[in-house]
Amino acid sequence: MQATADLVIIGAGIVGSSCVYHLARRGWKNMVVIDQGPLFQTGGSTSHAPGLVFQTNAAKTMCELAQYTVQLYSSLEWEGQPCFYPVGGIEVAYTPARWHDLHRKLGLARSWGLKGARLLTPAEVQAMIPILDPAVIHGGYYVPNDGIAKAVRAATALCRAAEAAGAAVCYGNTTVTGFETRGGKLYGVHTNQGTIATERVLLCAGIWGPKIGRLAGISVPLTPVQHQYAITAPIPQLAADREQEVVHPILRHQDASMYFRQMGDRYGIGNYRHEPLLVEPEAILPPEEAKVMPSVMKWTPEHFTAAARYTAELLPPLAQAELDYKINGMFSFTPDGNPLIGESEVAGLWVAEAVWVTHGGGVGRAVAELLDTGVCAWDLRELDLHRFHAHAHTKPYIRARGAQQYREVYDIIHPKQQMEQPRPLRVTPFHPRLVELGGVFFESAGWERAQWYESNRRLLEEVDVPERDEWAARYWSPIEGAEHHATRNGVALYDLSPFTKIRVEGPGALAYLNYLAANQVDVPVGKVVYTAMLNARGGIMCDLTITRLAPDVFLVLTGGGVGMHDLAWIRRNAPRDGSVTINDVTSSYCALGLWGPKARAVLQPVAEEDLSNAAFPYFTAQPITIGYVPALALRVSYVGELGWELYAPAEYGLQLWDTLWEAGRGHGIIAAGGGAFDALRLE
Ligand code: FAD
Repeated sequence: MQATADLVIIGAGIVGSSCVYHLARRGWKNMVVIDQGPLFQTGGSTSHAPGLVFQTNAAKTMCELAQYTVQLYSSLEWEGQPCFYPVGGIEVAYTPARWHDLHRKLGLARSWGLKGARLLTPAEVQAMIPILDPAVIHGGYYVPNDGIAKAVRAATALCRAAEAAGAAVCYGNTTVTGFETRGGKLYGVHTNQGTIATERVLLCAGIWGPKIGRLAGISVPLTPVQHQYAITAPIPQLAADREQEVVHPILRHQDASMYFRQMGDRYGIGNYRHEPLLVEPEAILPPEEAKVMPSVMKWTPEHFTAAARYTAELLPPLAQAELDYKINGMFSFTPDGNPLIGESEVAGLWVAEAVWVTHGGGVGRAVAELLDTGVCAWDLRELDLHRFHAHAHTKPYIRARGAQQYREVYDIIHPKQQMEQPRPLRVTPFHPRLVELGGVFFESAGWERAQWYESNRRLLEEVDVPERDEWAARYWSPIEGAEHHATRNGVALYDLSPFTKIRVEGPGALAYLNYLAANQVDVPVGKVVYTAMLNARGGIMCDLTITRLAPDVFLVLTGGGVGMHDLAWIRRNAPRDGSVTINDVTSSYCALGLWGPKARAVLQPVAEEDLSNAAFPYFTAQPITIGYVPALALRVSYVGELGWELYAPAEYGLQLWDTLWEAGRGHGIIAAGGGAFDALRLE
């Protein structure tokens, strides 16, 4: 095996293969792909994926990645065989709720540029899948160029194309056993066949990702989950299709958490309708010890009982069929169900994990763009390796959320649906007051945030909030409208403690932030600058405020949800000469928004400082005292009204709240939640 490489890719499944192919197309050379299994039936998840590609996705980027993947696989062949069969995809509605959801899905598909999607009557569905009973469904949602990917064939074609271009060499039966790192930087990969000196590694090891990540000291927050897949014996009604790969459109029966595909005169049946069966990455057998394939566990018939019933009802000819092939295959689930893409905190060690065959083509292209240019044409925020907070890297969290993602994989999910467990994880110092006021809590980045307060229901007597239909009214209350109105006309307190607070300081801080931010941050001490941070192509990476606290001390404030992403961006680009120190001080400070036309009337009597427009202009910051509490006040408002963001050491939280509440009583102060906040900032 060669002793040096410009890039080593670990894993020759669909993801590693797609990455090496796209890098080769960008002119990269001297790459190595290694896999512990034989090429290209490696024994990973790709080896047994039935290859259904349904492109529609609630997330725009995921849908676009799938659309590109279809284009890519359609352009490939291996040994004269196609890598993609565009037979179409149908999702059927078994319940009225699903039928409504399919209408919404059609809207999404059109918004995300998915061509030809349409709804079908039960009879139209049956015309495409003659073995389906139309009497048990309300209709179907159809995408004409969904279809079947031959994943191993595609992986072979992609890797061999990279080899043919002289860009890469692929080695099977080669196991990664460790990494060479120094000072947070990568210098090599150890394998059972020797060491490769390299400053760049891309981890595409699927369900083994966490185990290999640990060898380098990084967290890859995913859990392998077992998933049932079976293939029937030949079905007499399909005899005419025996020699075909697939003729019928692929089929999803999401109300039963199942999917189906034709395989000549047989049918493949996928089943999510069972309790999630999680596996520890360390417990997966190495290829030489695994009897079948390392990514396959023993079939558990007790988990297939409901699936058999649903199958017989929807596709009656399958009722009597024996199952000739039955596996509990394994693949990866992250805490939010999305892939993990990006460079880890070990410089040079990149990750492309938890990717389905459906998105493998697109992810390969995205990773290649990132490696090659540092930026990607797609918005990869929701896939960012760094999006999770520390608690989401703990084992119980990864397992609990991974299991829930498995349960919900085909559920109808409202965009505002809240996770139920594990909660509560992070509460702000104001929490007892929010509870007393009837806060209805949403979760964000682990924080409990009031979305509205039931104590404000009385305000509805004065405000006319338009009604919503059943779907739009979920996870919503008209009280949000009343809180919005009260903020515009009076004064409200918002708990902003979950905001991410980052202190950037040192002799190089000004030059660094000025390089990173689109706006001028060389401003007088006490000035607040609202700015974007851009990538090399001018794309927006962060949207935040920077406050100059001292000549070389800056406070960067950004949202709770995007905090880890923004922090990683700020850290990743920082000079490594010690001239800049970056600290996440989020947990040290609580924060309140005091906003509305009466905000000054509330704050001035309890502050010693002059808060007039002249003394405290918009977009400036000053240390002030609020009763007994030392605070930092920023004259910034998300709501289009007068007001301040108020930051104080966290332990003063209740004192701060109570002081402002008392001062606001005579002005009709209310507590307002995230619903009003979002509506006001949009407005
Ligand atoms: P893998 O294919 O697992 O590749 C990772 C590679 O890393 C392996 O080849 C492994 O041998 C190698 N490796 C691991 N450790 C080491 C080491 N130490 N040294 C060297 N090499 C190492 N997705 C769809 O889109 N559509 C479907 O219809 C579909 N159906 C599925 C059905 C089943 C039963 C299962 C289990 C999965 C299904 N999936 C489906 C999911 C899909 O198969 C996976 O998400 C995808 O194949 C993952 O690809 P990968 O390249 O990341 O991982």
